[in-house]
Amino acid sequence: MIIVMKPKAAEQSIHAVTAYIEENGLQVHLSKGEEVTIIGIVGDKSKLSTENLIIFKDVDRIVPVTESYKLANKKFHPEPTTVRVGNTSIGPGNLTIMAGPCAVEKEEQLLCIAKAVKAAGATILRGGAYKPRTSPYSFQGLEEEGLRYMQEAGKAYGLATICEVVSQEAIEAAVKYVDMIQIGARNMQNFILLKEAGQSGLPVLLKRGLCATIDEWLNAAEYIIAEGNPNVVLCERGIRTFETATRNTLDLSAVPVLRTRTHLPVIADPSHSTGSYKYVAPMAKAAVACDADGLMIEVHNDPAHALSDGPQSLNFDKFAALTEELKPFCQLMGRSFGV
Ligand code: PEP
Ligand code: MN
Repeated sequence: MIIVMKPKAAEQSIHAVTAYIEENGLQVHLSKGEEVTIIGIVGDKSKLSTENLIIFKDVDRIVPVTESYKLANKKFHPEPTTVRVGNTSIGPGNLTIMAGPCAVEKEEQLLCIAKAVKAAGATILRGGAYKPRTSPYSFQGLEEEGLRYMQEAGKAYGLATICEVVSQEAIEAAVKYVDMIQIGARNMQNFILLKEAGQSGLPVLLKRGLCATIDEWLNAAEYIIAEGNPNVVLCERGIRTFETATRNTLDLSAVPVLRTRTHLPVIADPSHSTGSYKYVAPMAKAAVACDADGLMIEVHNDPAHALSDGPQSLNFDKFAALTEELKPFCQLMGRSFGV
């Protein structure tokens, strides 16, 4: 439930309401807009008498929140959230591009990819050091060594960095080296990992599970935020459907749906969703056109020899051509590029 205070409600009135809620053993989530303050209530509402709340000074109305996610809910926090990542940010007004190899393979390789993606306008370097591969015989990642290379490449080219984590051990290593952690599609409902990510202190990119509904996805985000970490970004990366022409089906309708349900930033991943470099550019443009806050794109110096996801990786020329083509889309959508 949320309590909407009257415009310009006095601090004292806000305090009286929050104190009453807390005295009843519930938690408060305050969202202060320019005019109106919204007080969100988290916990067992049966402990609280709403009839009493409505007579508190400066209370305008009480609105039930039927969704099970609260802190991620737009009703709790009507203003869009901007998430800071190293020297850049993800949120309204910006198109943030994360680019880099599927997996960190070698130090020199990562440095040359970082240089190329930076030159083309990316502000976050992506690279997997812990790879959740479908087959146990596929390359599993360089682990901590890979994280070290990510830090080095990020520093060398002024890029923020993001790496996927698959375990508590990986989180503990990642906090030493990177600016953001990623929970991959396969772990979207690994609730223990979500809680640990919530305690990491780093911003979290939460990818949509292969078969997850939007509701399940937002509940997964709630797990992270409930640990005291509000810096969550959602990434639509395609879902499983009957279609086999693409690796997954990029559900771009999730972007406008999420806008109505959550204040969290939303980005799209045209690489893992399509599975082919040929479809990355059109779907990247479509994502910007439907108001995504950013893109995650796999880029490799030599896709034919990549240790993972070569077929969907763009080479440097294709990536640079794409970012040029995205600029007018950004302008139309009122977003600055590469900030
Ligand atoms: C990745 O980003 O490298 C990745 C494995 O993505 P996903 O979890 O979306 O498959
Ligand atoms: Mn990949």
